[in-house]
Amino acid sequence: LMHLTRKLIEIRSMLLSIDQSDALKLPSIVVIGSQSSGKSSVLEAIVGHEFLPKGNNMVTRRPIELTLIHTPSTGGKDPEEYGEFPALGLGKISDFSQIQKTLTDLNLAVPASEAVSNEPIDLRIYSPRVPDLTLIDLPGYIQIASLDQPETLKDKIASLCERYIREPNIILAVCAADVDLANSPALRASRKVDPLGLRTIGVITKMDLVPPEQGATILTGNRYPLHLGYVGVVCKTSGKKGRKENTQDVVLRGEHDYFGAHKELFGASTAVMVGTDTLRKRLMEVLESSMASSLHGITNAVQLELEEAQYQFKVQYNDRRITAESYVAETVDALKARFKEFTSQFRKPQIRAKLKEMLDEKVMDVLEQLYWSDKRAPELNALAADPKVKPEEVEPYWRYKLDAASSLLTKSGVGRDSTLLVADGLRTLIDSIASGEPFTFHPRAAERLIEFSHMILRDRIGVASDQVENCIKPYKYEVEVDEREWEIGRTQAVQLFEREVTLCEDKLKDIRKRVGGSRRLNGLVGYVKELEAREKEKTQRRLANPAAEDVDDAVEDYRYPPAQIIDARHAMLYSDRLAILKLRLIALKSKRCRAGPENDLLCPEAFLNVVADKLAYTSTMFINIELLDQFFYQFPREIDSRLLYDLDRREIIEFARENPVVRRHLDLQERKDKLEEVMKQLNSLATLRPEVSQATPRR
Ligand code: GDP
Repeated sequence: LMHLTRKLIEIRSMLLSIDQSDALKLPSIVVIGSQSSGKSSVLEAIVGHEFLPKGNNMVTRRPIELTLIHTPSTGGKDPEEYGEFPALGLGKISDFSQIQKTLTDLNLAVPASEAVSNEPIDLRIYSPRVPDLTLIDLPGYIQIASLDQPETLKDKIASLCERYIREPNIILAVCAADVDLANSPALRASRKVDPLGLRTIGVITKMDLVPPEQGATILTGNRYPLHLGYVGVVCKTSGKKGRKENTQDVVLRGEHDYFGAHKELFGASTAVMVGTDTLRKRLMEVLESSMASSLHGITNAVQLELEEAQYQFKVQYNDRRITAESYVAETVDALKARFKEFTSQFRKPQIRAKLKEMLDEKVMDVLEQLYWSDKRAPELNALAADPKVKPEEVEPYWRYKLDAASSLLTKSGVGRDSTLLVADGLRTLIDSIASGEPFTFHPRAAERLIEFSHMILRDRIGVASDQVENCIKPYKYEVEVDEREWEIGRTQAVQLFEREVTLCEDKLKDIRKRVGGSRRLNGLVGYVKELEAREKEKTQRRLANPAAEDVDDAVEDYRYPPAQIIDARHAMLYSDRLAILKLRLIALKSKRCRAGPENDLLCPEAFLNVVADKLAYTSTMFINIELLDQFFYQFPREIDSRLLYDLDRREIIEFARENPVVRRHLDLQERKDKLEEVMKQLNSLATLRPEVSQATPRR
């Protein structure tokens, strides 16, 4: 018989973890009573320990789902008594004052503004002295809210209790003997949902506070009949308890004394029920029979739910099972595959091309700085066009120029710039992986991914850029160029210039369109030149005669809007650049330039291009060794060690559940599994059912 209740209590808590709807609920005993009716004292007498929060200011603010689990003695030795809060994961607590403290904390954590919360606290107590029972302790009914409590508190408590005293639960209505039953809020609430008193047990506390005859009369239940009867108790413990004494023993002794003194009213020969021991037995009987009679209904309900869950699992997931672990493993594999796929962008030719592009820009800057701003630049064209001039006859001026240009390029910080360029490419790659699915669901993992990839990069950048700088060092002194390299460099320079020509022409076209045609642009340019000439003249005048006052500080006339004047200035710059580019293209395509590297002084563009090529080649080689290889080696290993595999079981589940698709799948799967388990347990009970006896009604 014991076995059945025990099993059903297990099933009940499994059902509670499946869902909180009433459909899947096995009965429990719900304890209600007004404040100070002695509710806590009764519960503590049943458990045998003081463990409920004490204090006069509404200490129970949340329902406490109390599951008592009887642990049998083995070999004459009592097993340890302890409590557990399954939701908190604190483990076994054998110090009941610690349980009391935890309960107090959990209750006080409910904000004062809310005062009561619907969310139950799950507490299990294992002891050889308790029966298998489930009890729900609810906040006590209050008559008048005190000043610091919200107005609606009374209603809130009432509606919370109302939810719990619904079918199929059993109501334990606690009333004090010294308060008229007519005024008992517990009985009043119970009558509302159970008018015939079929599932209500009355507990009359503080029997010692009324004359025994009066107490006995209450217990007969003639005034407010309850099918399950009344039990009278005396639970006063304060002051009588020895340090190590069990509350149960203290109460039992007190009750023995009190009821023993009035045998004629409360003795075995009478029909009334008295004592917490009787109460305990009564509760067991009632719960058991109530659970047994719920069995059929609950079995049907679970069967229905299970069929629905199985059907959904089949339809939605084709019965495919997943685990949080398998999701984590898949995510890691996908991440690595994705990374590998992306790394193809970082092969040597791609890197070389990127670096060359960066160096091309540097070459352009150097040319602009050293050649195009030089008034003698056109001389180079003349030299290139003159077949009579031998290479060794070219003025040393141009030798210095070329050496300066070459060293400006080689000493421009190529090591650092090229390393950073590649590192930045890697960073962008990781960022794009981290901001895509499935990492959109896993922001913390994405953050970690970015964090450790940046860390690897930071670690390598310094070494790599020093290494590159070191390896290009020879080029800072001398660059040897052979015929083949020269021709490649020259061709590239031509291409580069042609691209630049197109670029300048496009810009000019844009400006022309913006200001309203070429005539308008010509007008603008003429005007700007005029302005510039005037400005120049003024400066000269001032230089010639610094003391003189500016006579005609020509008032700027606003013939054109300022934006157009800026456009005109830009147009002039582009035209100048175009003119030079075109001129230089002629030189680059000339016979002299084609002839070979001995004409380097006349074709600095081709020469610098060769230098840029060599720099790009060498840099790529060392960046590959010092940065890319290292990164590609370390990154997948960091994924393993830092991203996911150091998660514990709980974190793995948390991670998987961050993905809503996975969460839904896991939820349904879990629901189905639990229902299957419950169904199995319920079926195994079928064999026990004939033993079940109905609790007999007491008058
Ligand atoms: P709760 O607010 O309903 O939980 O009530 P408590 O269990 O805290 O009891 C309120 C007060 O009544 C406490 O001071 C208890 O010591 C006292 N009390 C509880 N049961 C009895 C009893 O059977 N007899 C007497 N005389 N006092 C009791």
